[in-house]
Amino acid sequence: RPLVSIQHVSKQFANGTIAVRDVNLDLAAGEFVSLLGPSGCGKSTLLRMIAGLGEPSVGTIDWPGAGGANGEHELGFVFQDPTLMPWATALGNVVLPMQLKRMPQGEAEARGAAMLALVGLKGFERSYPRELSGGMKMRVSIARALVTQPKILLMDEPFAALDEITRHKLNDDLLGLWETNRFSAVFVTHSVFESVYLSQRIVVMAARPGRVMADLRVEAPYPRD
Ligand code: ADP
Ligand code: ADP
Repeated sequence: RPLVSIQHVSKQFANGTIAVRDVNLDLAAGEFVSLLGPSGCGKSTLLRMIAGLGEPSVGTIDWPGAGGANGEHELGFVFQDPTLMPWATALGNVVLPMQLKRMPQGEAEARGAAMLALVGLKGFERSYPRELSGGMKMRVSIARALVTQPKILLMDEPFAALDEITRHKLNDDLLGLWETNRFSAVFVTHSVFESVYLSQRIVVMAARPGRVMADLRVEAPYPRD
């Protein structure tokens, strides 16, 4: 049973643009998939539909491997922009999803602080977003997405705005998190290097007309370190 099953999914926007055409994909529990293709090929549109942010015009997205629960409760989403609340500290931002689930504050803060340590931000719990670098803000955003232990982490070109070195560090740390926690991951990118470095599977989309061109297994992980 796949975690997510995407069947004959197409998306046409109100203005007539067809962004995604007849995509069929199964995502397995614990696999790291890159969604690779040039700008405008429909990667974000497909990722957002997996997240429930926008309905397919045609086709279905089911969660057979999520214990019958609604997918919304099983996923974390990381946007290209870190989208942190400016009035809240790093820890305040990370505890938000647990507060929404009405977890007791003490437990939420303990889990939030542990998650911040895992993304390399021990000691920055009380810092505000304006006091953090771009890379550090992205780390907070990843911590916020993972703190509820979702089955799947959806990422939309999360490191695109960062410099090469910061990006490389974050790629490594993301792989480290995945190797220890084995959530499923879908990573949207237009970088061939990034997709090969990170993933076990690369789904290639075409610029026009929003189709999946290839679904590649990456046999051996790219040698790290
Ligand atoms: P990618 O993430 O691969 O860059 P997108 O999924 O963002 O591609 O966009 C795919 C196509 O759909 C593009 O032609 C884009 O302009 C169009 N598109 C995206 N969002 C909308 C929208 N809300 N309304 C109309 N067209 C859209
Ligand atoms: P940007 O992401 O905006 O390009 P950097 O990531 O290079 O900026 O970081 C800016 C500053 O913050 C640097 O002085 C860097 O050493 C510091 N910094 C970044 N991440 C950490 C961290 N995890 N712990 C301590 N200092 C950090």
